[in-house]
Amino acid sequence: MGGICSVCGLPEELCMCEQIAKEQQKIRILTDTRRYGKVVTVVEGIDSTDIDLNDLARKLKTRCAAGGTAKEGRIELQGDHKRKVKEVLEELGFSVVSR
Ligand SMILES: [Zn+2]
Repeated sequence: MGGICSVCGLPEELCMCEQIAKEQQKIRILTDTRRYGKVVTVVEGIDSTDIDLNDLARKLKTRCAAGGTAKEGRIELQGDHKRKVKEVLEELGFSVVSR
C-alpha cells in the first residue's frame, strides 16, 4: 500500500507495469500426448521474471480442477484444458497467441 513502483516510478495504484507485462507475454497453449496416451495441456512462453509462475499455475489448477507442474516459464496441466486455460488467462489480462 502506498509504495512507488521501481519500474515506472508511479504510485503502485497507478502503475500499469504488471498489466503491460501481461499484455506483452506471448503465451501459447497446446496439448501434448505423453506416454500411455496421457494428455497434458502445456502453457508456454510465460516470462517468469514478470509473472509469478507458481501463483498462475495454482490459479489454473484450481479453475481446471487438475493437477499440474510449473517450471521454467512453462505450466503443464494434466488433461485437455485448452479452452478453459485460454478463458482463465484472458480473464486475468494475458493475451494468448492463437495457433
Ligand atoms: Zn510500474
